[in-house]
Amino acid sequence: MHGVDATVARDALDVRALREDFPILRRVVDGKPLIYLDNAATSQKPRAVIDALVRYYEEYNANIHRGVHTLGQQATDAYEQVREKVARFIHAPDPAGVVFTRNTTEAINIVASAWGRRYIREGDEILVSEMEHHSNLVPWQLLARDVGARIRAIPVTAEGTLDLSSVETLLSPRTRLVAVVHVSNVLGTINPVRRLADLAHRQGALILVDGAQSVPHLPVDVQEVGCDFIAFSSHKMLGPTGVGVLYASPSLLEQMDVYQGGGSMIRQVTLDHSTWAPVPTRFEAGTPSIADAIALGAAIDYLGGLGMANVRAHEIDLTRYALGALGSIPEVRLYGPADPLARGGVISFNFADVHPHDVGTVLDSEGIAIRAGHHCCQPLMRRLGAAATVRASFYVYNTHKEVDALVRALARVKELFGVGVRCALP
Ligand code: PLP
Repeated sequence: MHGVDATVARDALDVRALREDFPILRRVVDGKPLIYLDNAATSQKPRAVIDALVRYYEEYNANIHRGVHTLGQQATDAYEQVREKVARFIHAPDPAGVVFTRNTTEAINIVASAWGRRYIREGDEILVSEMEHHSNLVPWQLLARDVGARIRAIPVTAEGTLDLSSVETLLSPRTRLVAVVHVSNVLGTINPVRRLADLAHRQGALILVDGAQSVPHLPVDVQEVGCDFIAFSSHKMLGPTGVGVLYASPSLLEQMDVYQGGGSMIRQVTLDHSTWAPVPTRFEAGTPSIADAIALGAAIDYLGGLGMANVRAHEIDLTRYALGALGSIPEVRLYGPADPLARGGVISFNFADVHPHDVGTVLDSEGIAIRAGHHCCQPLMRRLGAAATVRASFYVYNTHKEVDALVRALARVKELFGVGVRCALP
């Protein structure tokens, strides 16, 4: 799967060495060494990324695409080189299809607004899934509300996978767009996006893939995936906050309306009319997050140095280990596929009937950062019959020892809350 040999040994990455690259991992929380297991929310940053930010501000801080001076040219070159790096990273054929956005959320909103308002009409359908992050649901709801379209949803099975048997009936000649998450930020499920792309295209619909949890963690080849749009965020892939990516073919971007108006996105402006710059700058109105985009380039270099197949292998190994360890605790109820090859390094669970926030507070007192809540997936929570879950999510610097610490800390939760085994789980 994803070009990774399932049998790859656990030392695909030299984790001990690479942890030295992340200054924050030296932090102590409540007298305990930080164990950061909230990577699905945002990842930590290696020194190379922090240095790239500092270097930009110390050495060539200038606005891009405008200045004729040296600094402006250096900043423009650095920014545009990252566009090429992003394209190579996702195997996109043309860097002109890479639009820098603020994050995944903005990338999806651009499609909903600039493509959706032009091509989706009353009575049309948008097919999402029950496991979407609100970022890949609410923009479609807003669009559907305004144009009179209808949202339909692929159900989630008891195993936490998409019910593919329903897709063919849900797709209809009215379907204009399929918008699905590649890797669920709650269940970890890796969805068969290539198959969904083929099904969508057969109906004449386009497909948008929410790659927020896939691009940082798996080798992603947009040509293999066959998607029309993909969206992801720098901050989840070792890069800074403030920058994300929308990728689509330049010809598709050309067919879209503009998103925001302002500087940089124009070719010619008169008092009552404007014409647009070529894509992708047409979608980058105003001054972008220059430093953040440049530092995203450093993050991509870092991940490229590790090798995405190794990143994936490391996460398969950790996920297998964690599923085994957590699964042997009677009070733990795990969500999502049992097979570590079918999921990314995201594990949601509940601990008996202890509220996830209480679990999170106890874990925090042990120095362990996890997330507790609905993870911006309220429809999925309803499907799971859970108000919230605890979520541990891994990245390149996490270790078996940290999983062991999580298991030990859960024993502490049991001690403190004196819980019994909950039988009637939904
Ligand atoms: N989609 C998924 C699957 C996510 O996990 C997230 C963030 O957690 C998002 C979208 C939104 O990302 P951002 O907040 O960076 O826009």
